[in-house]
Amino acid sequence: MITSTSVRSAIQDPARRQYNGNLLLKELDTQYASEFIKTFGLFYVDLFIPILTHIFGQAFLGGRTAIASIYRLSNERYGLKEINNYLITRLTKEVIHELGHTFGLIHCHVPTCVMGSSTYVEDIDQKSSNFCNKCRAELGLP
Ligand SMILES: [Zn+2]
Ligand SMILES: [Zn+2]
Repeated sequence: MITSTSVRSAIQDPARRQYNGNLLLKELDTQYASEFIKTFGLFYVDLFIPILTHIFGQAFLGGRTAIASIYRLSNERYGLKEINNYLITRLTKEVIHELGHTFGLIHCHVPTCVMGSSTYVEDIDQKSSNFCNKCRAELGLP
């Protein structure tokens, strides 16, 4: 999907064995995004940005492109049994969260709001897959 070898090596950081989310997002935006629709890249690689050890996803605020990776979302990643569709539930929240960013929402401090920031999967588990009233209002939703 990412075609150029030089771009690929820039995105994949060999020292960290991870993929730079900023570069991957930019590449997706340049290559695939278009007006009037949101483009979402779903990956199975370990994502990071230079200031953080890892990220679950990344999006352009008010933009047209977002990415997420399922790499760190499964219980198996942490040596735990895969139960209750954790992976799908977490991924759903992560996708809604990143899409929220593309619609201009910033991180929210309402504990159950899907726009809360998540460093660990436990953070994702704590929040719901819904927007709080304040975020809904900002999206123009009833
Ligand atoms: Zn976020
Ligand atoms: Zn909110």
